[in-house]
Amino acid sequence: MTLESIDRVTVLGAGNMGHGITEVTAMAGYDVTMRDIKDEFVEDGYESIEWSLQKLEEKEMIDESADEVLSRIDTTTDLETAVSDADLVIEAAPEDLDLKHDIFSDLEEYTSGDTLLATNTSSLPISDIAEAVDTPERVLGLHFFNPPVKMDLVEVIYGEDTSDEAAEAGYEWVESIGKTPIYVRKDVRGFVVNTIVGPFGGEPAFMVSEGEATIREADATMAHERDYPMGPFELADLTGIDVGYHVRKEGGSPIPPITEEKVEAEELGQKTGKGFYDYEDGDGADYEPEDASDFDWLRVEARMINRAAFLVGEDVATPEEVDTGVQLGLGFPEGICRRADKIGLDTVLEKLETLCEETGSERFEPHPYLEQLVEAGETGEDAGAGFYDYGDDELGPYHDLNYDLEDGLLQVELDRPSRMNALSADLLGEIDDLFDSVDTDEVRCATIEGSGDRAFSAGADISGFSDADPTDLMDVTPAFETVNDFPRPVLAKIDGFCLGGGLELALACDLRIATERSSFGAPEIGLGLIPGGGGTQRLTRILGETRAKELVFRGNHIDADRAEDWGLINRSVERDEFDNTVSEFVDDLAGGPPIGLKVAKKVMNEGQDASLDAALAMESQGFGLLSSTDDVLEGTAAFAEDREPEFEGE
Ligand code: NAD
Repeated sequence: MTLESIDRVTVLGAGNMGHGITEVTAMAGYDVTMRDIKDEFVEDGYESIEWSLQKLEEKEMIDESADEVLSRIDTTTDLETAVSDADLVIEAAPEDLDLKHDIFSDLEEYTSGDTLLATNTSSLPISDIAEAVDTPERVLGLHFFNPPVKMDLVEVIYGEDTSDEAAEAGYEWVESIGKTPIYVRKDVRGFVVNTIVGPFGGEPAFMVSEGEATIREADATMAHERDYPMGPFELADLTGIDVGYHVRKEGGSPIPPITEEKVEAEELGQKTGKGFYDYEDGDGADYEPEDASDFDWLRVEARMINRAAFLVGEDVATPEEVDTGVQLGLGFPEGICRRADKIGLDTVLEKLETLCEETGSERFEPHPYLEQLVEAGETGEDAGAGFYDYGDDELGPYHDLNYDLEDGLLQVELDRPSRMNALSADLLGEIDDLFDSVDTDEVRCATIEGSGDRAFSAGADISGFSDADPTDLMDVTPAFETVNDFPRPVLAKIDGFCLGGGLELALACDLRIATERSSFGAPEIGLGLIPGGGGTQRLTRILGETRAKELVFRGNHIDADRAEDWGLINRSVERDEFDNTVSEFVDDLAGGPPIGLKVAKKVMNEGQDASLDAALAMESQGFGLLSSTDDVLEGTAAFAEDREPEFEGE
């Protein structure tokens, strides 16, 4: 039971989740069979896959045709045919324990003993489902999020008896289909993501029920001041107020009176036309930034952080896993553990203790792990440790970017895929710190790319602007200058949107290679702004005034081919040639003479702003300086001996 042994996958259920899981599995190159109980259900699911793949093909989001992907999908209503030669079965049938028991006992009969058996349940314990089989060690949870085609996260959940071998095979398989797995090491209700999201909706509902806040105040504060993708009541209306209600009821958790009232009145959210907002006679979730008030957001976040302490303290997940989970599964702007470390765990603990005393409610009882961290003085970033350790790492730790430095190549990945890698103040700070602190002797060339499959970076995270002091925003953003001044060549690898601040970051790089589907633009003018990270100046220098003004004044996007015509990027290439083209550039840059490239970069960057005489003088000085280096001796010797030079940078 290893990744290598997984060739054929079977998905049981062709509904919302089943057809989506089938689609992403086939997109990754696996042969997959989708089974439902009636022909019409199978057909509906298959048609949804066809429709979705055609859209992906039109948008060039897949490297092959929709038909090629579809050719790997079989459908059937017969369970035995579906599973008898499957290496991995993923059950995505309705959320009913008896039904799942029936399915798993059939699976025991029809599959071979080393087939991996996964369930996509959102709320049933994996261990309860595994009771139906004699081999529970091969049963695990693979919890996809809706819709699987768009959502990157999959929780890989251990039941009580799941073997490490099975969990690891599941984890690696998830990686092999291009999704991001996180382990959930214990079979806790809600797994990781839903454990954290509970108080996000629940606590504001208690506060509104108790007359301590209004719905609009809560939503506006959480969305506009704390940067969540939407307010808790808007979210409840979207997912269905009854959904959260049933989860609470089944979990034996107290139900906020306002939620109870809505369910009794059958006002369940968007699907019934009315919920916390009115979607029929009103304007829906119409709260505005000005509705934000002194809503007690810390009460809500403290409860989410307490849940994170439970998950980490009980070894269900690591802080990194919790944070990846909430960012990819819920679109949170940053990890909840990371946010806790910034707020200060002592502040969080105090808040919980006060609320516990005032209300006597169990839900504020601090988890011992949180108390333990605070007692040990590990209260967060300022103290050097909290959920994370901020101590001895030479670089970082970084939360919004990943980097890898090997064999002279520094590869930097902007890591905010749920926000299309938008440049927040934190991310810019991390870029600045990395390029400023990395040992340049170890680096011959750097690349910057975006994570996820949609964007290099879709812009600046403007949600952070609303509460910033205008005079702070007038400062030149150091990150772009640091990249521009970095004494090694920096190449932007652009696949997808490259807009606003993202474009400015790419402009601060020396070279830019993009896939054909990428698009470029400076949309700031549409917000009444201008590019604020060097865009007006670098665009003019790179494109000339005519084209730069077109981009800045009109705020439109241009595609990669036009960008190449205009000289905005070095190459526009098809997606399947992208990595090769980048490697060819990187090989030349990393194999080139480090001092020569450093001097060339400096002279070319600085020369643009000097008079021609001064620039020529700079060039001559650079030339003179280089003539005495060992690299020049090596370069000329290699030329004479007709071999590749080996530059040492001396
Ligand atoms: P759904 O009702 O859309 O689809 C379920 C499908 O399973 C239906 O087409 C049904 O005919 C079929 N089915 C019934 N019995 C079957 C059997 N014996 N064998 C094969 N198929 C059978 O439900 P869904 O939203 O896709 O949810 C499926 C599972 O995924 C549930 O366990 C749910 O908790 C979980 N889940 C749902 C979401 C979500 O947002 N919808 C997210 C994550 C996980």
